[in-house]
Amino acid sequence: MVEIPTVSLPSGILVPALGLGTWKMGEDARHADAEVAALKHGLDLGMTLIDTAEMYGEGGAELVTGQAISGRRDEVFLVSKVYPWNARRKGVIEACEKSLKRLKTDRLDLYLLHWRGEHPLAETVAGFEQLRQSGKIAAWGVSNFDLDDMQELMMVPGGDMCAANQVLYNLSRRGVEYDLLPWCQEKGIAVMAYSPIEQGRILRNAELIRIAKAYQATPAQVALAFLMERDGVIAIPKSSSPERVEENAGAAELEISDEDLAALDAAFPPPAKKQPLAML
Ligand code: NDP
Repeated sequence: MVEIPTVSLPSGILVPALGLGTWKMGEDARHADAEVAALKHGLDLGMTLIDTAEMYGEGGAELVTGQAISGRRDEVFLVSKVYPWNARRKGVIEACEKSLKRLKTDRLDLYLLHWRGEHPLAETVAGFEQLRQSGKIAAWGVSNFDLDDMQELMMVPGGDMCAANQVLYNLSRRGVEYDLLPWCQEKGIAVMAYSPIEQGRILRNAELIRIAKAYQATPAQVALAFLMERDGVIAIPKSSSPERVEENAGAAELEISDEDLAALDAAFPPPAKKQPLAML
């Protein structure tokens, strides 16, 4: 078991700053056992937040997650997401009920709007709040919302109940540091960093490799530790391999010196001006 730092959500609940992603899981039945095993291994290591969505494998990732959490639901902080085209008040409720069935549970800990679509935010929030009041979700949030979307959300009745915003954030995608991240930190809204190792693409960076070697760590561990340095940030790397899940968990034990953080800033410069929120 690795000691994983925690992030406090607006409700006061503490969640691990390092969780488990599930995109690309549940797409091929031949890989399901390995995916379930990787998720279970992550839970054993203390990465007890699982991030899934009705989109992933068109429900397949939720089925895999349901198997991984079977018999240990209370250990897990379970996050799922609704498609924007299901995000009318009634649609949110129906989509959530379907997700709960696939996950074989009676509640989600956090339910997110996957990205902004055409339905008015007030409709989505009304659905989320109805789910919260009936105990089907403990909290709700959004994903891929830039600062202007967040400000608009705050104007909607109940919009200030938003607990988290899940966005693309990693060493090579630091735009959120200019405005969105500080704004969320000030409001106590958790920022969930998706694709925290840029789906593997940043791991070949020479400077990242050099710094990792100095700590006898791996580039993925440095990339994840960089995110966990920040208040209110939760990184959710995905891996279907127990070895890589273990490697990723090891990031929690890594403390990067100020000198090396400065070297990372030189290799992956922070934003000097507003950048529109990037999305994958
Ligand atoms: P990640 O940055 O987590 O990278 C995942 C990829 O990297 C996989 O191919 C994985 O392969 C590989 N990998 C994982 N760990 C290591 C390691 N230590 N060394 C080398 N390779 C590694 O990308 P994701 O896009 O999956 O993002 C993480 C999660 O965030 C998603 O799974 C999903 O839950 C969420 N997400 C949310 C989005 C949104 O719009 N809200 C959009 C995108 C992601 P392998 O499995 O073979 O180990």
